[in-house]
Amino acid sequence: MELDTIAAISTPMGEGAIAIVRMSGPDSIKIADKLFKSIGNKKLMEVASHTIHYGHIIDPATDEVVEEVMVSLMRGPKTFTKEDVIEINCHGGLASVNRLLQLTTSYGARIAEPGEFTKRAFLNGRIDLSQAEAVMDLIRAKTDRAMNVALGQMEGRLSKLIRHLRQEILETLAQVEVNIDYPEYDDVEEMTQKVMIEKSAYIKTEIEKLLQTSQQGKILREGLATVIVGRPNVGKSSLLNSLVQENKAIVTDIPGTTRDVIEEYVNVRGVPLRLLDTAGIRETEDIVERIGVEKSRKVLREADLILLVLNYADELTEEDKNIFKATEGMDYIVIVNKTDLPQKIDLEKVRELAGNRKVITTSLVEENGVDLLEEAISSLFFAGSIEASDMTYVSNSRHISLLSQAMRAISDAIEGAENGTPIDIVQIDLTRTWEILGEIIGESVHESLINQLFSQFCLGK
Ligand code: GDP
Ligand code: ZN
Repeated sequence: MELDTIAAISTPMGEGAIAIVRMSGPDSIKIADKLFKSIGNKKLMEVASHTIHYGHIIDPATDEVVEEVMVSLMRGPKTFTKEDVIEINCHGGLASVNRLLQLTTSYGARIAEPGEFTKRAFLNGRIDLSQAEAVMDLIRAKTDRAMNVALGQMEGRLSKLIRHLRQEILETLAQVEVNIDYPEYDDVEEMTQKVMIEKSAYIKTEIEKLLQTSQQGKILREGLATVIVGRPNVGKSSLLNSLVQENKAIVTDIPGTTRDVIEEYVNVRGVPLRLLDTAGIRETEDIVERIGVEKSRKVLREADLILLVLNYADELTEEDKNIFKATEGMDYIVIVNKTDLPQKIDLEKVRELAGNRKVITTSLVEENGVDLLEEAISSLFFAGSIEASDMTYVSNSRHISLLSQAMRAISDAIEGAENGTPIDIVQIDLTRTWEILGEIIGESVHESLINQLFSQFCLGK
């Protein structure tokens, strides 16, 4: 399959210190040679692969110097797309970068669609679909930990596991065929059933394990939806501010939806908090009083984490108790704020209302206790063993949905085998499991799905 040459600015838009224009395809070196004049007057066509060259971009039409640049030349197939790739590093300045991009298109390149570089890597067999999706996750990763998950997936950890499970299914199916083909042995029927049940149970357990990581994986990817709730004046805004100040706020530009959404994240010890904009307000001022316990329960339920703030220097009010009622059964941390003032609150009563949830005392004006809160958030999320960084997390919602489907199919197979359903019916369920798992790594995936997936990427990736 011969593809054309594509080009894009592959660094974030805006005023970066450097910007990269990237080309991939059969003509990329030829096009670069038309625009680039190296200091030693060398032609890129003639230089070794995987080398960098200093020089200038010159507009061939006017002989004008456009940019001082470093050009990297990488011949396929040892490149990300497996094609010839040129990367032109320039100093940035949006105008000149754009002009450079336009020059590449004047001389034969086409502006890449979003995700097209990664799509090529996939089409050219360099990476599988779950790895391609990991590239997208990597671009969006909100914390180091989320980045590690994406990196792990890109390195093919998930793919490897899925391939292994598919192989197991194939072997089981093969073995069943053999047993069916040699019915002269006694108790073949029984044997076949036994093998099927054992293997299927193993596969089911593995899928289950993967699905168990999905909650964490999803949060790492999408952020822990967090709401700060409490009566007026207890210190919700102050809490929000101190969380944002102590931890780098991450503002991301998330492509892929119909519109670009700007969301704000706070990185708390590796846990990305997504500060929820509940009904237009981040901190939920007297929400319970305004819309009642039942309705606010519904609103609050959207959150993964609730930070319930109380006033240390005030007695517990009816409203405080209503907030406890509205958050019953949800994950939350109680923050008793203003410990620098004389105590009026009954902490025993607070602990009683909080049940097994953490109660933390803070003085936000004196900057006391915020570290304890962060500790609590992180341990709530990374409860125990999950912290191991070499875990295979499933974080992508497409993967989660496919794994759930595979889980149902394999359960059907097990149930069938146990109930003495004819072997060929059970085989169908096993085959279906194999197919569904294949969709995760992009085998047996529809072309329309592939196009849709890749169009969600950022431009230039
Ligand atoms: P909100 O209405 O819940 O958002 O509360 P704010 O964060 O706006 O705080 C209300 C008032 O309490 C402000 O004047 C804050 O400066 C003050 N405040 C916040 N935290 C503390 C604290 O720990 N100690 C004291 N003494 N005042 C605080
Ligand atoms: Zn406020």
